[in-house]
Amino acid sequence: MPRIALHWQILMAIFLGGIAGIALNHLALPADNGIPVTLKMLGQIFMNGLKLIVIPLVVSSIIVGISSIGEEIGRMGVNTLAYYIGSSVCAVLVGVLCVNLIEPGIFHGAPLGTQIALPAGTSGALAKVQDKSLGDVLDIFLSMVPANLFGAALEGNMIGLIMFSLLYGFFAARLPSAAKEIQLQFWNGVQQIMVGITQVVLMFAPVGVFALIATTLADTGFGALLPMLWFFVTVLLGLAIHMLVTTSLFLHFVARVSPWRHIYAMAPALLTAFSTASSNATLPVTLRSLRERAGVSERVSGMSAPLGASMNMDGTALYECAAALFLAQAYGLDLSVAQQFTVVLIALLTGFGMAGIPAASLVAIAVILGALGLPLEAIGLLLITDRLLDMFRTAVNVYSDSVAAIFVASQEGEALLPLRYQNNKT
Ligand code: ASP
Repeated sequence: MPRIALHWQILMAIFLGGIAGIALNHLALPADNGIPVTLKMLGQIFMNGLKLIVIPLVVSSIIVGISSIGEEIGRMGVNTLAYYIGSSVCAVLVGVLCVNLIEPGIFHGAPLGTQIALPAGTSGALAKVQDKSLGDVLDIFLSMVPANLFGAALEGNMIGLIMFSLLYGFFAARLPSAAKEIQLQFWNGVQQIMVGITQVVLMFAPVGVFALIATTLADTGFGALLPMLWFFVTVLLGLAIHMLVTTSLFLHFVARVSPWRHIYAMAPALLTAFSTASSNATLPVTLRSLRERAGVSERVSGMSAPLGASMNMDGTALYECAAALFLAQAYGLDLSVAQQFTVVLIALLTGFGMAGIPAASLVAIAVILGALGLPLEAIGLLLITDRLLDMFRTAVNVYSDSVAAIFVASQEGEALLPLRYQNNKT
């Protein structure tokens, strides 16, 4: 019997997990019942497996990538940053446009916030984002220079690790040739080992994805979505426009790669991002899909994908703008152009360096609400849809990272997806 490709297995797991989650939500089993407990554990094992490889994979990929780049490093760096800035600006503009046109915060002519009650149980989430100000956002720049490398790894400070790895790779390439050879062989070996472990973790992906989706839907259900439906639809529309129109047109016209073929090549990574809601946890799959299915070299993907997972968050930036403007509408606040500009600016800044973990954007939204003078409790409204929208925006984040890698690879003259897509083994 022919083996079913990984992305189809994951897609089936998403579908079946969705059905199981809705059924469990209807059954309303107690939290300590064996079924939800087992599902939660299976999902966590999968997430842990992915996260386990992230640090050694990021460090080794960047060091190997950077040390093999040589003189082109400046050009590649400029291309990468130019893409990140350009695509994030497009994303936030799409978000602002969608919310201003659809006005999801207005319901039957009145602000939504006056018509529905905040969901119960939001205090835990609110406590996490309390007292966040622009200073906390600017801490991102501080975390680029961690005082302790192992402390950075322990805290999951990816930006700090990335910066260190970039420097390490840069200077490794400048060692005398014997020492340089030893370094490269060692880090190449680490990278290959991590690729091997990724393979093992991915064998568990269908079970892990099933469990993650079932747990999410068992907790959220669809009933609670109703008052937030327009907001949900607005964000999905914005994300779809950014992914399927803005970024895809760029892919087609600038990088000269077929967007459909690229989406197909990145399917394992996009589906993993959707299921885990974490760009960081998806990184091993993103690297694998870029190299084995999209034809991007190790040197470009090794630099571009880890950087993108931490510094390029289009879906998140779009969501932050849409969420802040939606809450302003829901609370009956008429935002001036200057205030909307503040929202855009904070969303852009925070997208650049936010942790690629579930619900990371809530902190940034808390900062934006503070800047607009809106109450923090407003976030309670967002919590109804946050996890589901997180799945979609994380997929867009990863998609944009992959497009950045393709763009840089195309500028380096790499042969990307062949005319006819052949390499569809997983
Ligand atoms: N979950 C997102 C990611 O990992 C971040 C966020 O939007 O909360 O990319």
